[in-house]
Amino acid sequence: MSPTGAEVIRKIRSQVEEVDPSEVREHLGNGVVLVDVRESEEWDAGHIPGAKHVPRGYLESRIEGAVADRDQRVVVYCASGQRSALAANTLREQLGYGNVASMNGGITLWKDRGYDVEVPKSLTKEQRERYSRHLLVPEIGLEGQTKLLEAKVLLLGAGGLGSPTALYLAAAGVGTLGIVDDDEVDLSNLQRQVIHTTDRIGVPKVDSAEESIKAINPGVDVRKYQVRLYASNIMEIIEGYDVIVDGVDNFPTRYLLNDATVRLGIPVVSASILGFDGQLSVFAPHEGPCYRCLYPVPPPADMAPSCGANGVLGVLPGTMGLLQATEVIKLVTGAGEPLIGRLLLYEALGATFTELKVRRDPECAICSKDPSEISDDELGVFPDYEAFCAAAG
Ligand SMILES: [Zn+2]
Repeated sequence: MSPTGAEVIRKIRSQVEEVDPSEVREHLGNGVVLVDVRESEEWDAGHIPGAKHVPRGYLESRIEGAVADRDQRVVVYCASGQRSALAANTLREQLGYGNVASMNGGITLWKDRGYDVEVPKSLTKEQRERYSRHLLVPEIGLEGQTKLLEAKVLLLGAGGLGSPTALYLAAAGVGTLGIVDDDEVDLSNLQRQVIHTTDRIGVPKVDSAEESIKAINPGVDVRKYQVRLYASNIMEIIEGYDVIVDGVDNFPTRYLLNDATVRLGIPVVSASILGFDGQLSVFAPHEGPCYRCLYPVPPPADMAPSCGANGVLGVLPGTMGLLQATEVIKLVTGAGEPLIGRLLLYEALGATFTELKVRRDPECAICSKDPSEISDDELGVFPDYEAFCAAAG
């Protein structure tokens, strides 16, 4: 006769190491990873600070993302200690985790003891529904969505790259979107700048972008800067933003942006496109290389869209802009591995992605310095730009 469910659970519990909440509390942060295996709604109602959330139903597929090292001490908890015992057993017997325990009594006993519980901020009913597909992804969830709603992201350019980036970041619920663009919508933009429409030709791009953003998500706070970036205004515009999305098409602004963001410690998600080729990287000041580490002098002339009008496949900025939006969401939520120290090259005709490692240059003119030593006079200065553009013809 098959054993009953209760018998199986009893047997498993007798084989799993169980620890008391007081012991868990004592070792929190000391090389112990605490994993909450409850459902998302339970996690959202309150969890142990510092715990990682891997619902039991996702244990096999997600645990490696939360605990990469199988020799790591892992303590699993649930509401009462039953589901966590089963999860601990799965981790040990089927997934090869060697040092796993289940917290006795679960978070219920933890709370009874008066220990700290963290309750994430709640969303409105409308927000819960709007972002429900994010809430279902464990890497984002309520915590990640809250971070997105509180995030301030600045888009440089509401053009080919900025259009898809702005639309998707607005849809994703980024709370504040700043847009810097001094241009007006032109008929020749519409082949790729999908945030603008035919009836808005002649309208400032910042106004057109705001209209589209608000139509998708009225909750987004749009801040418009209908200016060009100069050394004289860049610091006051970018200060206070969490992430900057670089979709500018000229090298002087790229260098200026790099220097100012290194000084302020703001990460930049940078992309460029030409013809059928795109490139993408994340420049996180002092954590990875900066734009100048990659290009101490401007790149070769054939990658220099700033020297005049160049052709581009209309969908290419869509592809690259959405990769940028993805990196922004990762930086804001802390999910995954951002593209720091890596340059991603996309070649549309061959349908190939290539990744190159980029290292910090210890001699870098900007990021090798202490941020406070980067002077106003140095911002955006780089060698021989005039000569370089002339050579590009
Ligand atoms: Zn550098």
